[in-house]
Amino acid sequence: MQKTTLLHEGKAKKVFLTEESDLVIQEFKDDATAFNNKKKGTIADKGVVNNAISCKLFTLLEAHGVKTHLVEKLSERDMLCRRLDIIKVEVVVRNIAAGSLVKRYGFTEGTVLDVPIVEFYLKNDDLDDPLMNESHAVALGVATYEELSVLRKQAEAINLVLREFFAQRKLKLVDFKLEFGRHHDKILLGDEISPDTCRFWDLDTNEKMDKDRFRFDLGGVEDAYSEVQRRVLELD
Ligand code: UDP
Repeated sequence: MQKTTLLHEGKAKKVFLTEESDLVIQEFKDDATAFNNKKKGTIADKGVVNNAISCKLFTLLEAHGVKTHLVEKLSERDMLCRRLDIIKVEVVVRNIAAGSLVKRYGFTEGTVLDVPIVEFYLKNDDLDDPLMNESHAVALGVATYEELSVLRKQAEAINLVLREFFAQRKLKLVDFKLEFGRHHDKILLGDEISPDTCRFWDLDTNEKMDKDRFRFDLGGVEDAYSEVQRRVLELD
């Protein structure tokens, strides 16, 4: 399958149309941004690593009955996907308190949550992706109550699969962000699942092994990403 025109360029990926109207190619870049574009940089080979990890995790999720946009991994940086009408809602699932949950609500970082927290954020950079509830999303016209209920259930189911998978690889899945899209009459999981969109802590040492190393200049960013890749891909 060949790329034709560039449909969209985001912070970490380009999306291309193909000769098939129903299919797009996601090209993973090395560009990294944080704090809504205020911090910019590159992480060497991040695109290759995130494509490999995402393809593996989407395949795992498909095997557990989760419908995703993945068709196949085309090359090191390219993922062939079904074309989605992206729902402008970012779904965050949290197992352990970190990041904005700590800032906003005063949780102590590292507190294990008795029940995972599911949050919805409006996908809108101009507004800094504000946290919202179902009523806001419906009022804004970004999703229906029925769709939001599907997103929540899918996110909870995905969390159970991923938490188990990462625990076997000695990684704690602290939190992660998902995006979904409409495809004909179905809702499919889209975007990516990678150290850019998840927080992973080493099970034994609690060492951060994700984009927080870039966000907070902790060093060892590339090493952390490739170690996550190794645990995801080599420990089968
Ligand atoms: N996240 C993301 N994209 C965003 C915002 C958050 O992938 O635009 C991920 C982030 O990497 C983390 C989880 O969602 O794994 C929760 O992020 P949080 O709300 O704590 O915000 P942050 O501290 O990352 O600003």
